[in-house]
Amino acid sequence: MLQSILSNLAIILLMHLIMSMIMQSRKKITTFTFHFLTILLVSVSVISMFYLPIRFDNYWVDMRFIPLVFYAYFYGWKIAIPSLLIASLWRFFMGGDGMVPGIIFGMIAPTILALAFHFRSKLEKNYFEKLSIIIGSWLICDVPIILLIPNGIEIFKDIAFIRAASFIITSIIWYIFIMQNRQLQILHSKLIKLAGEDPLTQLLNKREFFTVVNHKVKELKPNHYIAMIDIDYFKQINDLYGHLAGDKIITEIASILKKYGNEFVQIGRYGGEEFIIYIGNATNTSATELIHKIHQEIQSHEFVIDDNNRLNITASIGLAILENNSTLLHTVNKADINLYIAKKNGRNRLFIS
Ligand code: GH3
Ligand code: MG
Ligand code: MG
Repeated sequence: MLQSILSNLAIILLMHLIMSMIMQSRKKITTFTFHFLTILLVSVSVISMFYLPIRFDNYWVDMRFIPLVFYAYFYGWKIAIPSLLIASLWRFFMGGDGMVPGIIFGMIAPTILALAFHFRSKLEKNYFEKLSIIIGSWLICDVPIILLIPNGIEIFKDIAFIRAASFIITSIIWYIFIMQNRQLQILHSKLIKLAGEDPLTQLLNKREFFTVVNHKVKELKPNHYIAMIDIDYFKQINDLYGHLAGDKIITEIASILKKYGNEFVQIGRYGGEEFIIYIGNATNTSATELIHKIHQEIQSHEFVIDDNNRLNITASIGLAILENNSTLLHTVNKADINLYIAKKNGRNRLFIS
């Protein structure tokens, strides 16, 4: 018995290791590949668990429903249903006496039970619910023993303890691994987000802006435009009202700009009080209109410093088109030169070339 319990643990451990590797390459692979690999892994685990049952006296019990139940409960139908289909088909082609009850009670019914709980609640810390699902799945699995086998109730009583204990222990180990993977996944996406985000405004930082826009330039139709925005006389605002007030204005301008962001318009914080905007799939008219609108909104917005101080501020903007055979960097530089010209011409204006 110990040997067969250990083989089941080995499957769980191996599955966890492979799953961690898949999670780590999540960014590099497509969603389709990710789902395909996960489904394959769950199906193979279910099938291997069937071949390595836990032996107790004359009885053999397998744990095949555990991967299905866990993936159904945590991730919903997308992984569980295809894996269930593969494992059921495989069991169907194996044939034999226990084929139909094995598929219905050993796989389909527990998976549906777990799916029902997935849709009902997503409480991470509801241990009672998780334990109920495992015990419920075990009881469903044993329905055929009780109903279809002569002396079924006696047999059920004989093996009840070992079955409950092995399911619960295996489930706890599986749960720890799944939670560890989920934690890693959450940390990973937080890290990716933080690395590309400006902490004050949550706009794209300069590095992420270049990465995203380089993709957009390849993906979207021309024309592509870059606008550089710089707040006028910002130093005076800092000197008069303090840096915290300055920060508040930068954040508020970022909120105004964010409203214009979409698939074709990407916004970043270039530096102190300088913002950068990419506009793709546009014309001279549409890009200029958009920038005029933004310029107007900044100009007409009332910035509240405190109860006694409300400010109107202005910004200067340089707009440039990405020419054929030119680079993004060169276009940013051109927009920067245009911004400088807008400043030189008296500020609070847009300069395009
Ligand atoms: P101009 O019209 O020529 O742009 O005048 P300006 O005073 O805005 O000049 P400039 O753009 O060179 O100055 C930017 C100032 O912004 C300098 C710096 O003190 C301030 N600054 C840069 N980053 C931050 C920030 O994160 N928070 C605050 N509060 N101020 C910043
Ligand atoms: Mg500046
Ligand atoms: Mg400025």
